[in-house]
Amino acid sequence: MDFCEKVLSRAGDVRIIKGEPLSKHTTFRVGGPADYMAFPKDESALAILFEIAKNESLPVTVIGNGSNLIVKDKGIRGLTIVLGEEFSGITVSDYEITASAGELLSKIARTAYQHSLTGLEFASGIPGSLGGGMAMNAGAYGGQLSDVCVSARVFDPETGEIREYAANELELGYRTSMLLKTGRIVTSAKFRLHAGDKEQILKTMEDLNARRREKQPLAYPSAGSTFKRPEGYFAGALIEGANLKGASVGGAQVSTLHAGFIINTGGATAQDILDLIKHVQTVVFEKHGVNLETEVRVLGE
Ligand SMILES: Cc1cc2nc3c(=O)[nH]c(=O)nc-3n(C[C@H](O)[C@H](O)[C@H](O)COP(=O)(O)OP(=O)(O)OC[C@H]3O[C@@H](n4cnc5c(N)ncnc54)[C@H](O)[C@@H]3O)c2cc1C
Repeated sequence: MDFCEKVLSRAGDVRIIKGEPLSKHTTFRVGGPADYMAFPKDESALAILFEIAKNESLPVTVIGNGSNLIVKDKGIRGLTIVLGEEFSGITVSDYEITASAGELLSKIARTAYQHSLTGLEFASGIPGSLGGGMAMNAGAYGGQLSDVCVSARVFDPETGEIREYAANELELGYRTSMLLKTGRIVTSAKFRLHAGDKEQILKTMEDLNARRREKQPLAYPSAGSTFKRPEGYFAGALIEGANLKGASVGGAQVSTLHAGFIINTGGATAQDILDLIKHVQTVVFEKHGVNLETEVRVLGE
């Protein structure tokens, strides 16, 4: 029995494919093939996938919506698990929203609005899943998920166990978390919001999204801000100050609209993007003496 057959015999209706290009699953539109890619629907299928991969000594990588990733051109060895639209579910109870890892932050923010709940407006334009959002502690315009998160259910690949973590145990910091550091997987999270004015919630979401459309190069594939904000500076301003707007390597370019974004102008390879990142880091350090650390995560070979 090959790996796919083993998965199908144990985990039933899990979709699993061989050799799927990651470029189809990243907003940068780069990345070579995953040896195997699986799309579980629930926690038990997720646990079975990890167990089978462990028995086969296959490394496992978990991704969400691929909106903060550069996957290298040779792809990802072993099993790539996508917690996406199949891994879904949102419930609302009083002032709390609980959502599964595969739900998009935009949809969760929309659900909050529909229930006149305020607190997640900042997330409505972030193109990530809840799982990736929790791992990155996604945030924008003065808000971040740690402001509203109460708890999360977390799968530990080491032990195969799932348990509920209080928000303070998740070590949610600026674009980081215990999840990123340990490789543990969020399967769902709970947010506590406040009663708000529905019209005002909608207006805030629309205003923030209009600001994105004006300031961000949304017409091109990217992974959002390439670099973290260095303490006391803005990455975009440092890059612009080093005359790097429009700098390019192959199909990768420092956006002329927002220097904090590297975009794929068409046909960029992951290597083009990585080379451009290195170039930007070198020139910014020479010019300003500041180290730019990437916010985007690099995966694969
Ligand atoms: C146009 C654009 C605008 C953006 N604007 C913002 C913004 O304003 N603010 C912001 O914070 N980000 C922004 N981003 C970046 C990105 O959307 C966020 O980082 C988002 O939270 C990533 O979620 P994802 O599901 O796409 O994660 P992925 O990119 O798939 O993964 C990111 C990381 O999370 C890990 N991960 C994924 N799912 C899980 C899980 N269930 N459990 C544990 N770890 C997991 C992955 O292994 C990886 O290390 C933007 C991106 C784009 C393309």
